[in-house]
Amino acid sequence: MVRGWTTPQLGALLLGLLLLGTPASPSDFQHHRYDELVRALLAVHSQCPYISRVYSIGRSAEGRHLYVLEVSDNPGVHEPLEPEFKYVGNMHGNEVLGRELLIKFAEFLCEEYRAGNHRIMQLVHDTRIHILPSMNPDGYEVAARQGPEFNGYLVGRGNSREIDLNRNFPDLNALMYYYEKTNGRNHHLPLPDNWEQQVEPETLAVIKWMQNYNFVLSANLHGGAVVANYPFDKSRDPRIRGRTTYAASPDDKLFKKLAKAYSYAHSWMYKGWNCGDYFDEGITNGASWYSLSKGMQDFNYLYTNCFEITLELSCNKFPPASALPGEWLGNREALVSYLEQVHHGIKGMVYDENNNPIGDAEVSVSGVNHDVTSGVDGDYFRLLLPGTYTVTTTAPGYLPSTTTVTVGPAEATQLHFYLKPLPKQTLNIKQHHGKKNLSSTKVPLNLGPR
Ligand code: ZN
Repeated sequence: MVRGWTTPQLGALLLGLLLLGTPASPSDFQHHRYDELVRALLAVHSQCPYISRVYSIGRSAEGRHLYVLEVSDNPGVHEPLEPEFKYVGNMHGNEVLGRELLIKFAEFLCEEYRAGNHRIMQLVHDTRIHILPSMNPDGYEVAARQGPEFNGYLVGRGNSREIDLNRNFPDLNALMYYYEKTNGRNHHLPLPDNWEQQVEPETLAVIKWMQNYNFVLSANLHGGAVVANYPFDKSRDPRIRGRTTYAASPDDKLFKKLAKAYSYAHSWMYKGWNCGDYFDEGITNGASWYSLSKGMQDFNYLYTNCFEITLELSCNKFPPASALPGEWLGNREALVSYLEQVHHGIKGMVYDENNNPIGDAEVSVSGVNHDVTSGVDGDYFRLLLPGTYTVTTTAPGYLPSTTTVTVGPAEATQLHFYLKPLPKQTLNIKQHHGKKNLSSTKVPLNLGPR
């Protein structure tokens, strides 16, 4: 016995030491300040070292790291044909539920994997999952200093320079809407010159993250309403900005299905009546709710292969800690079900005739004016609703290849492409008189005049 300690005091001390060493259990729900968030992610990694990795995608304006927890059977490695998925929370610093749900979700994946939950083990084996609980750690600290009871509607929404990060991405919609009329590019639209100087550090970090990983599916977690919001956020007609006009993307039906995958797996979102608003089936097109420019979800779709929706998860942007267990139970199945959507549609490899992978090949589905591209390993992922599709793959220097494929409701259909090189382009000098083909001369085009 340590001198000066009573037995109950020593007992309490030992209990305290024991609790420090245990990971957060489902019972201890609380808000996490920045240091606590970092510790929670590192704790998940130490509990599940073989299926996780913590990495930073950059720093906030005030220098806080934007930490991502990756969960995968091979952390740090892209495995061909294994899709990359991301969840992003707390982009608006005062919308804190997503941050807490994503910490809990990371713990849940680790715990269930260790417990042998078959569904979670399969997800971890087949998916590379990236979780960014807070895109705006500086704004969060501003909001958290006020606390749940006193947080104003806008305090801590922006980053430390009070810039709204969901109005801070390069605006590619105007270019897309122009290209729609002129048959221009329908994917991977170019960024404006000097874009890096025009965005906040948090936005810059996220765009570089998108450039480095070939994300297929994503959700961005917000608060202030309860609804699953899908592209486009920006109205097609700038004259009626702010008014409600539906802005369908070429993948409108697919986006509706993705939004419903969340709303119907959520305990009450699908019912539609929440926070004094009504959204049929708990989903809405962004622009038909209210139009906004420079948002992250439209940017994902127009600049990358990633399909992103925006989830509004609570009426109260900063709910008290006592509300967190109920929110977790309401969202847990939805977070898993939505993640599973990344395994639908078609996927496959694009090879040349020597079985070398072809990166950046374009995969287009007839009837859908939005192509996706293969990653550096030659693998592509194209989310699709069940149905039969004609799919064409092209790459510079190769002949296009077209196939018909049927997509079922379950696992993605695998469809590989083997592209043949373009034949040496030739110009036949045709003989119009006589049967004798006097000239077998074929003049290679690239050696002709000019
Ligand atoms: Zn928000």
